[in-house]
Amino acid sequence: MAAMDGRDGLKDLMDNYQRRDFLKMATGAVLSLPLSGCRSFRQRFGSDRPRPNIVFIMTDDHDRDALSCYGSRVNATPNLDRLAKEGMRFEHCLCTNSICAPSRAVVLTGKYSHINGKIDNGRDGFDGSQQTFPKLLQTAGYQTAMIGKWHLRSEPTGFDYWNILPGQGKYHDPDMIEMGQRKKHSGYVTDLITDFSINWLKNRNSEKPFCLMYQHKAPHRNWQPDDKHADMYKHTDIPIPDTFDDDYSTRSDAARQQAMTIEEHLRVPADTKVKPPEGLTGKELKKWKYQRYMEDYLACVASVDDNVGRFLDYLDESGLSENTIVFYTSDQGFYLGTHGWFDKRFMYEESLHMPLLVRYPGRVRAGSVNDDLVSNLDFASTFLELAGAKTPDDIQGESLIPLLRGKTPKTWRTSFYYHYYEYPGPHSVKRHYGVRTERYKLIHFYYDSDAWELYDLKKDPDELNNLYDNHEYAEVIADLKMELKRLRKHYGDSDALTKKILNESLTQRKKALEKKQRLQTK
Ligand code: CA
Repeated sequence: MAAMDGRDGLKDLMDNYQRRDFLKMATGAVLSLPLSGCRSFRQRFGSDRPRPNIVFIMTDDHDRDALSCYGSRVNATPNLDRLAKEGMRFEHCLCTNSICAPSRAVVLTGKYSHINGKIDNGRDGFDGSQQTFPKLLQTAGYQTAMIGKWHLRSEPTGFDYWNILPGQGKYHDPDMIEMGQRKKHSGYVTDLITDFSINWLKNRNSEKPFCLMYQHKAPHRNWQPDDKHADMYKHTDIPIPDTFDDDYSTRSDAARQQAMTIEEHLRVPADTKVKPPEGLTGKELKKWKYQRYMEDYLACVASVDDNVGRFLDYLDESGLSENTIVFYTSDQGFYLGTHGWFDKRFMYEESLHMPLLVRYPGRVRAGSVNDDLVSNLDFASTFLELAGAKTPDDIQGESLIPLLRGKTPKTWRTSFYYHYYEYPGPHSVKRHYGVRTERYKLIHFYYDSDAWELYDLKKDPDELNNLYDNHEYAEVIADLKMELKRLRKHYGDSDALTKKILNESLTQRKKALEKKQRLQTK
């Protein structure tokens, strides 16, 4: 039902656009467009509908709290805000598994981690032989490119062109791997990825519609700003979040036993010239570290903002803006001092939410806001529908097209399923799964413990009061458990599958460790 609404939605979007184009042509307004633009306009009046170009901009670890269009208290992002002002801002875009590589695999496949196989950032790469949306777009006649941070440990598949950072990549003078060839580049990574993306647009085959994945490393650790922005926040007292000193008193052990506090676990980079003042300890040291962390993080974001602005300007100058749908997101959210943390992983609000801005001039209402539960699971279906390609039945996401029209189908999801796996692992966040509805969130930490948490997000948006043992919520808990069971079945997840996946993953890790030890003893 939702898919049918979606297809009708695209037809309406296109029909509206055709009427606008006709008016423009009648007034001669399209004469300034380049030849490729004119050709697509002509096609629009034939039997084939023209299909939009797709630009997917993804940053790494960019939290909504560092975007002014989401109400940031710590910085301004005027260029990224343009996308919100000229398009739609999604309030609840949720990540199915809040960690880098798995999120990217979900984007590519439109399938949960337990189906696409990339459950954590561990040794094994993404299985690139499986179905992905770029491959399906190629089949549908799109030219595809992947430029910037890939982070899936495998060679990109489904792209006519790719130029990626190896692994995490470096901020300054990074190596990049272009179609299998590794080269060193001079400059700052955010500038370079933008340059390569614009150059690809200039040199692409303009006969075909395109999909460009333009993906930044920033603002991932180790947060090394460029010279232009390095001192931008040095003399600013960055506001401390309200939950900075959360003591996790009502939560389960998982929140107390993690290793991602600013106070204890955030390392001031070894190569920094700034050292904590002599004798600074405890709460004062925590505040000092927070300021240094945020200065660098926000300076990296500022460069992203400048560069996305430069990229959007190029779309304008080249006449591409009109028929190009631009998505901006990050692979997950990130803790910017809330709850005393940095990093991600937990199903709590900050890391669960991804920013999502979508601009599609004339077809998505400028300055609109969507409150539905959407996800990185939905991107693949959306891109396929935009390309007029059939979405295979095994894709688990839904197309966002009806929502982009401002018409949410009655059948749209009212609950969302989450599952995180990487434990034991960096930052020691225990494995958990859970369900989030508009109002509630139920989390089950099932490994190394058997603990549940319930939050009433309406009364407690900061999730400071775990209500799982509150008898007044017994009925809510029973309903949510039923819903969780239904979602797990619907998406093909189960305890047996989790056990199988984790056994495989532990075997792989053991083998990798043994290999490493063998190499060290040689
Ligand atoms: Ca990330």
